[in-house]
Amino acid sequence: MTFKAEYIWIDGTAPTAKLRSKTKIIAGSPAGLDTLPIWGFDGSSTNQAEGHASDCVLKPVFTCPDPVRGGDDVLVLCEVLNTDMSPHPSNTRAALAEVAEQFAAQEPIFGIEQEYTFFKDGHPLGFPKGGFPAPQGGYYCGVGSDEIFGRDIVEAHLENCLKAGLGISGINAEVMPGQWEFQVGPLAPLDVADQLWVARWLLYRTAEDFGVAATLDPKPVKGDWNGAGAHTNFSTKAMRESPGGYDAIITACEALGEGSKPLDHVKNYGSGIDDRLTGLHETAPWDKYSYGVSDRGASVRIPWQVEKDGKGYMEDRRPNANVDPYVVTRLLVDTCCTALEK
Ligand code: ADP
Ligand code: MN
Ligand code: MN
Ligand code: MN
Ligand code: MN
Repeated sequence: MTFKAEYIWIDGTAPTAKLRSKTKIIAGSPAGLDTLPIWGFDGSSTNQAEGHASDCVLKPVFTCPDPVRGGDDVLVLCEVLNTDMSPHPSNTRAALAEVAEQFAAQEPIFGIEQEYTFFKDGHPLGFPKGGFPAPQGGYYCGVGSDEIFGRDIVEAHLENCLKAGLGISGINAEVMPGQWEFQVGPLAPLDVADQLWVARWLLYRTAEDFGVAATLDPKPVKGDWNGAGAHTNFSTKAMRESPGGYDAIITACEALGEGSKPLDHVKNYGSGIDDRLTGLHETAPWDKYSYGVSDRGASVRIPWQVEKDGKGYMEDRRPNANVDPYVVTRLLVDTCCTALEK
């Protein structure tokens, strides 16, 4: 007996890494992460190595049922190592693992809202050839064939994420036609990031069968059309507890505004951040840090319910759709948990 294992990894494409995958036939039946073999690939084809020393190592870090193939088959998310088993320069997971361990006692968790846009024949799904649809207004959480484009793909993707056992928590149609969102979490830093990468892979793979491409381009249509972000909702144990939760949230919001922190974060929040964070379309300008209750024009929003309850979480609205979840979670844990430790 054999099963198919789809080994998935993050490549070295700049400025935004791409997902790659290939299939390994393994004898027996799947018996958990620790029994999945290490594998390798040609790094010279993925911007991860030179041709003369091209071998890179794939080390399994997360596995789940493969909802596309079904049966015993599995998906295997890997981190990329050098042949001496040290983290490859493109491996952003290793640094998160260290920071997550350092602050594990604060029990940080994340819910990430992944926005994305479907494309077909070079334009967003729902855009007429060579033209534009009616202006934004009715599409967000809309219903009906004049407002909704690609729901069959979105439903298939949701079903695939659930079958895979990912911690997906919702979906919605977005402000621009052909633009959608799914949320993963709340989960611990490594879990949310691993599962978001697998959910992204499943998005591309599901849409492929419909002849449609999904993109995480943060500003897929220039002009008066919303960009695509990855709002990152964050809390620690202290923030979730009353009394004191609200004070902890304010401490974290203030820490994000100190010294060079706003720029340190924003420049690592996905390529093309200044195209999206213009101050229009429910964004704050990329170079001006702010936070506020219910404020969708602030860098960081505290939901109204959180203020009312005096505890809960905060939402960093700055990350682009194409952000690396290993990076945004590392920066938030590092900045906020360091401040909360004091
Ligand atoms: P929005 O109103 O900004 O569109 P969403 O409902 O799309 O919000 O996403 C909110 C995300 O925040 C969800 O993924 C949810 O699971 C997550 N979340 C809820 N509570 C917490 C918490 N205490 N800590 C971190 N994330 C949380
Ligand atoms: Mn080959
Ligand atoms: Mn949302
Ligand atoms: Mn959204
Ligand atoms: Mn949001």
